[in-house]
Amino acid sequence: MLDTLRRIVQDINATRDLSEALNLIVAEVKAAIHTDVCSVYMTDIGRDEHVLMATDGLRPGAVGKVRLKLGQGLVGLAATRAESVNVDNAPAHPAFRYIAATGEAPFHGFIGVPIIRRRKVLGVLVAQQREQRKYTADEESFLVTLAAQLAGCITQAEIRQGLDRLDSDVLSGTLFLGGVASARGIAIGEAVVVFPVAALERVPDKDIDDPDAEASRFRQAVASELAELQRLSERMRLLLAPGDRALFDAYALLLSSDSLVDGTLERIRAGNWAPGALRATVLEYANIFTEMDDPYLRERAADILDLGQRLLDRLREGQVTNRQYPDDTILMGEEISVSQLLDVPTGKLKGLVSVRGTDTSHVALLARGLGIPAVFGIGNLPPGRLNGREVVVDGYTVRVCIQPGPTLRQEYLKLIAEEAELSRDLQQLRDLPAETSDGHCLELQANSGLFADIAAARDSGVQGVGLYRSELHFFLRDRFPGEEEQATLYTRVLRIMDPRPVVLRTLDIGGDKPLPYFPIREQNPYLGWRGIRISLDQPDLFKTQLRAMLRAGTVYPNLSILFPMISTVGELSEALALLHQAQKELEEDGIEARIPQVGIMVEVPAAVYQIDKLIRMVDFASIGSNDLTQYLMAVDRNNDRVAKLYDSLHPVVLAAIHHVVGQVRAAGRTVSVCGEMAGDPAGALLLMAMGVDSLSMNLGSLLKIKWLIRSVRYDEAQALLTEVADFDSATAIRARVNGFLEQHGLGGLLRVGKWGH
Ligand code: PEP
Ligand code: MG
Repeated sequence: MLDTLRRIVQDINATRDLSEALNLIVAEVKAAIHTDVCSVYMTDIGRDEHVLMATDGLRPGAVGKVRLKLGQGLVGLAATRAESVNVDNAPAHPAFRYIAATGEAPFHGFIGVPIIRRRKVLGVLVAQQREQRKYTADEESFLVTLAAQLAGCITQAEIRQGLDRLDSDVLSGTLFLGGVASARGIAIGEAVVVFPVAALERVPDKDIDDPDAEASRFRQAVASELAELQRLSERMRLLLAPGDRALFDAYALLLSSDSLVDGTLERIRAGNWAPGALRATVLEYANIFTEMDDPYLRERAADILDLGQRLLDRLREGQVTNRQYPDDTILMGEEISVSQLLDVPTGKLKGLVSVRGTDTSHVALLARGLGIPAVFGIGNLPPGRLNGREVVVDGYTVRVCIQPGPTLRQEYLKLIAEEAELSRDLQQLRDLPAETSDGHCLELQANSGLFADIAAARDSGVQGVGLYRSELHFFLRDRFPGEEEQATLYTRVLRIMDPRPVVLRTLDIGGDKPLPYFPIREQNPYLGWRGIRISLDQPDLFKTQLRAMLRAGTVYPNLSILFPMISTVGELSEALALLHQAQKELEEDGIEARIPQVGIMVEVPAAVYQIDKLIRMVDFASIGSNDLTQYLMAVDRNNDRVAKLYDSLHPVVLAAIHHVVGQVRAAGRTVSVCGEMAGDPAGALLLMAMGVDSLSMNLGSLLKIKWLIRSVRYDEAQALLTEVADFDSATAIRARVNGFLEQHGLGGLLRVGKWGH
């Protein structure tokens, strides 16, 4: 049975559209369980009906015509109960409905299995038998397993079908595709698809007559690519620290290395044309790297292939012509590389869509840093078919809309215009304090991690950087940065913000953020080697970072240091001891560094319940609501299957945060929140009511939250907090708080559904 199942699923995946897939299923299932009829009914939500979509055994003419009211008949019973209905004599069952059009009078044995995806019944898979027949437990579980597989296939088939529909232009439908991660904002523009994956691998060999001319064509391509890399590196200079350009330097090095260039020239001289010679050489080298034991070197194979692809593109162009991008480019691809992103001239890049990639992919970090709306992790998207189409990137709802209809398009344009207007209006608040109408003040700070956004933060009047995610720089390099390099970097960050405070967080890798050059393979990464745990186990790396931070602090005193993922008193003692040791080592080297303000992130439940002890050891606490929610609710913050359960407004999360705020303040220390909740209007309002000293958030949310704070009274917010603390769900709390915001004329802040990421 298992083999049959596997084969059916494979066959379905190879089909081109939904009806082909369904026809195939019914035929294959009918044969597999030796039954007289197999059919699929799909739920038509708009019309509240179950529709016969495919059958092998009933009258073919009945397809699309037989419609049962939702819940009607045995099919309806399976759908409403969301469980299998298996009866040996269907006509005798009270729920049975006779429908002449199916020609099903003579059938007795019946089994209906619901097709369910994310709690929604998409349809029912039905088998029927002329004679009375009770399907065996094995057959039933075969159908149940197949239905579960089918649920996934149907949505994939639907996507493909949607695209076919757009292609045919018969119906002007709109296709929505959901992703797993995003950079906030909305953009509308023309899809420019990049990176024809594996194109290099498909280049054929071709004999040539004039190897000299071909060799010089290749040399020219190499020279122009080198010049281009130089240009890209320059452009990066404006956005990133020098070390972040390591990728481009690595490419330039590969190009100047004899092996790649000479190998290709040799093959050209032997009579192959340049693209073929390049393919053979690049694949040869990439294979050598792929087979290496060292994971870091294995990764370099991708760089060689990427570089080979770039050279091939140059050869195809024949000369140095830069690609033309429309003014409203939405860059799309299987996987978009950093260099492809930076290839688009500034001002023309409006949005990004990538089939692969998550929250922490380089390009996601960069998009966020540059404020470009993006959606990542759109499975099943065939980018090649989307070139030139109009696309909406909705980073708030983490969706992409392809070829929006006129009404939807209008709606999105309105949203973009409103966003622009809101941010223009909000600019007036730039230099005003975040103060409620009854005089309660709190500090608003920015989360940062790149130069591009830190400079923007300074220019938009923030009171400081509440969370500087130092790991972002580690991601953009191809090795651990040394002390010198880090010291330069942190000094620059502190100088940009001086005299406003900057909280530098020590390396928080692991979990969903493994460094490419420091792979960690674990069954359960979020509960594994993460954050401070890695730092304490690798004191060499940790002290290098601490020394670099302390050195930066000797030049600019606006430094604070923050330890992530603290879960025990022991960990904090060790971290503090290493900090003092780093200071002592610097002293031995003749550098007088002082210990700055030190804080802990409260993002693990264990820290919540030991906060009274932990807080006495440091100067401040910063609540990481992203992880705290994940660990309190036992919900992986990046898993879209359980995303519904992830809400920082859950009463349990609020209670935990409230407890921490109370304890920290009682100990006379300061407390801030730096998770996404701080930039969520409802979250920010409740956090303020709890009495936090500061909120640190993405820059894009900052003025909106300032507007919110300036529009409400503190005592009213406190009363609201008391009221909702007793509610039993996040949904109820969100509804009530959003209602409050609407009443205060802040509905404009709620327009977008998702504030996370
Ligand atoms: C958090 O967990 O809330 C946080 C701010 O840290 P990060 O999102 O970087 O894990
Ligand atoms: Mg965290």
